[in-house]
Amino acid sequence: MSYVDEVLELVKKKNASEPEFIQAVTEVLNSLRPVVEANEEFYKKNAILERITEPDRQFMFRVPWVDDKGQVQVNRGFRVQFNNAIGPYKGGLRLHPSVNLGIIKFLGFEQIFKNSLTSLPIGGGKGGSDFDPKGKSDREIMAFCQSFMTELSKYIGADVDVPAGDIGTGAREIGFMFGQYKRIRGTFEGVLTGKGLTYGGSLARTEATGYGLLYLTQELMKCHGESMEGKTVVVSGAGNVAIYATQKAQQMGAKVVTCSDSTGWIYDSEGIDVALLKEVKEVKRARLTEYAAARPSAEYHEGRGVWQIKCDIALPCATQNELLLEDAKQLVANGCKCVCEGANMPTTIDATEYLQQNGVWFVGGKAANAGGVATSALEMSQNSERLSWSFEEVDAKLQNIMVNIYHNIDDAAKRYGMEGNYVAGANIAGFEKVVNAMLAQGVC
Ligand code: NDP
Repeated sequence: MSYVDEVLELVKKKNASEPEFIQAVTEVLNSLRPVVEANEEFYKKNAILERITEPDRQFMFRVPWVDDKGQVQVNRGFRVQFNNAIGPYKGGLRLHPSVNLGIIKFLGFEQIFKNSLTSLPIGGGKGGSDFDPKGKSDREIMAFCQSFMTELSKYIGADVDVPAGDIGTGAREIGFMFGQYKRIRGTFEGVLTGKGLTYGGSLARTEATGYGLLYLTQELMKCHGESMEGKTVVVSGAGNVAIYATQKAQQMGAKVVTCSDSTGWIYDSEGIDVALLKEVKEVKRARLTEYAAARPSAEYHEGRGVWQIKCDIALPCATQNELLLEDAKQLVANGCKCVCEGANMPTTIDATEYLQQNGVWFVGGKAANAGGVATSALEMSQNSERLSWSFEEVDAKLQNIMVNIYHNIDDAAKRYGMEGNYVAGANIAGFEKVVNAMLAQGVC
């Protein structure tokens, strides 16, 4: 049995109840086969794959808080510090009822390679809770965030572990958590990113993941002799990533015709009205039915269905495992040329393979959505310098990072004879840097 297969067996045995983690490890290790097999004995002797698939440490804790009726509620909190070979742990906090240890581990594992790809000094981590922010009052959100941070504050710090936002954690939640950290530790430091602009946040951080996704997509198109101008784009999600991906795609001359949330989706033949979508989702925190009610060109449909709309480019920006094999078949049948992932692991392994086998240019989330964490790292730099850069300065750095990521993953795939396999390219490029650092630091 090859070393990769041995470790895959071990990971499956040790983490049997964590399907998403197994899925992420399987995807990464399979694509690293050419790298590992070129020097198998060396990797095995140093137990590189066992070390990189085992988190440095993981915390699970009780989060008690009081709701508006005076009832005590209890949620479960998580922080997984996966690998800090190239910098402090860095990765978001997800607040969603589906959160469990396996989901946080899959996200933390992916984060190692994504953060490495940004070329900035940040390690991999992730956290969150099964708390559901939907329908909660601001006071309830604050009570939860304060209780969550009371425990989390023991394990994080500006040079140790710097969490950020993710699903369910936006500027409001980061603000409440930052306030509680400051109260408990008595220091004003860049311990979280995604902060408000008046207390250490970075301009362009809000837009960064969606904008970065489009900067990379545009470079990919350009390198294939195409442009964004006049292209029809299908986007899923209606949160932070989806909104700013839609905005940037439209600024580049494309037409985005869909968005979705966890209950339904919109087809808007005139192109999504971003200002209206922001009003519905960011201000009113309402359902997409309100978007349809305010826009005559929009149709609202219950359930899932954005991938059935004919498009040139598809950008999944909602959540994991939302683009399935049958969706991939529909996209190919409709002539879709390019899929770039704004969300983390939205495409299942069989759907990814189908898209790649059918000539679709496919870039996974590790590379395509790295603009968010890259800009978080730029926020850390600004906090360390105690300076704030202009929007244009941060945006220019983000563009540069995303264009470099595209060329790095393209080159890495070519070096191993897998031209056009950007998934393998991303895993290889991210892996090589982390492994070099791990080896230099000895057995740890
Ligand atoms: P938000 O919470 O802002 O938005 C998430 C969107 O996805 C919402 O429209 C939500 O709908 C929808 N959604 C969530 N869960 C499900 C589900 N189970 N089924 C269908 N739809 C769902 O999150 P973000 O936009 O920040 O994150 C989206 C994705 O991008 C995630 O995978 C995240 O990990 C990834 N990501 C985010 C980064 C960032 O900077 N924000 C950085 C890199 C990756 P509803 O409102 O109904 O819940």
